[in-house]
Amino acid sequence: MKQPQGMLRLGRYSIGVGDRFAYQGRAQLKAFLEARAGGVEATPVWNKSHREHAIIGSTPAETRAAADAAAREAGWAGPYHVDADHINLKNVDAFVDSCDYFTLDVAEEIGRPAPEAEARAFAGRHPELAGRHEAPGLEGPLEVTREGLEEAARKYLQAVREAGRIYRRIEERRGAGTFVTEVSMDETDRPQTPGELLVILAALADEGVPAQTIAPKFSGRFNKGVDYVGEVSRFEREFRQDLAAIRLAVGRYGLPENLKLSVHSGSDKFSIYPAIRRAVRAAGAGLHLKTAGTTWLEELIGLAEAGGEGLETARRIYAGAWEAREALVKPYAAVVDIDPAGLPAPGEVGGWDSARFAAALRHDPSCPSFNPHFRQLLHVAYGVAAKMGDGYRRLLRKFEPVIARNVGRNLFERHLRPLLMGD
Ligand SMILES: [Zn+2]
Repeated sequence: MKQPQGMLRLGRYSIGVGDRFAYQGRAQLKAFLEARAGGVEATPVWNKSHREHAIIGSTPAETRAAADAAAREAGWAGPYHVDADHINLKNVDAFVDSCDYFTLDVAEEIGRPAPEAEARAFAGRHPELAGRHEAPGLEGPLEVTREGLEEAARKYLQAVREAGRIYRRIEERRGAGTFVTEVSMDETDRPQTPGELLVILAALADEGVPAQTIAPKFSGRFNKGVDYVGEVSRFEREFRQDLAAIRLAVGRYGLPENLKLSVHSGSDKFSIYPAIRRAVRAAGAGLHLKTAGTTWLEELIGLAEAGGEGLETARRIYAGAWEAREALVKPYAAVVDIDPAGLPAPGEVGGWDSARFAAALRHDPSCPSFNPHFRQLLHVAYGVAAKMGDGYRRLLRKFEPVIARNVGRNLFERHLRPLLMGD
């Protein structure tokens, strides 16, 4: 495929930093500066989805303004981007002016099979996709049968076409080459195999989508804000095969040579970070990892630690979340596992002091007070804080030092360092 001339290129390592209320940009950049001082260049990308904007009542223009201000104030001279996360044809227009990174969500189309004739025609055009593929660093076979090829075409061609439609819409309005393109297929019920990923990439190249990152659904559970659930060795094998599929596709189909994997719901997946780090290094590959809501939880921890009205507000947010728990969990049902019996009653939390609240919420699996149900519920409860409006924002300003300390430490110590630098 032909790539746009002078295309805006995403750096080798990049991290999606969610910032629900847009106050933590400087604290997050401090973590990136710390990584740079340790010899690792990573590009911050502020990602915020249509869903988040709708729940909070914010706009993409505000995210852009906050990112620009944070970069200025932190003296960040490197590249950074603003990601229109999980957008589709229905809502992309609102993001076009403010974003320079677009995550085209085509998961909904995965359930719609392509017409039989089209699937067969695709397989006929790409006989090279069937067979056993060799790639450096590949452990175990990456094999696609002729049947598997047609099956994958049936399953994913519509999604790829949709990615083409969204991509062209953005290109028309912004100009070719002025933005980074990611294609996401993670919010669906079944993971894609590395063989399917190879087929999808060939189809994306046919469709003329210059994807620089691709977010497949990996096997295992990627619940919001808590550790990976699944077999780590199996994940590592699959991840390495995905990297090989990407390398093959870049060489064969002319996709951007910096094309890399994007790991969604990637925050707090401590048990797989060493596997990801090893695999990426061995392959000489890049990595994008989205951390979305982990920063909002650090805000809450900071508020709790501040004591006084900070702690009181953190308790009130939990009480509100507990009341509305069913409605809050609904849009996130596929990405949280909350046992209602594991949730403390608001009355009990009302008696917690700063240290107790912070210990229940902070993601330290070795701490006996850590409660993953409490944490996951609060992860999806930012709408409760949003409803407090200026009252909540005032506290973010008032307690900035203690919040910023938690935000920065979490991003650097628990994410950037284990993922990109090693322990
Ligand atoms: Zn996602």
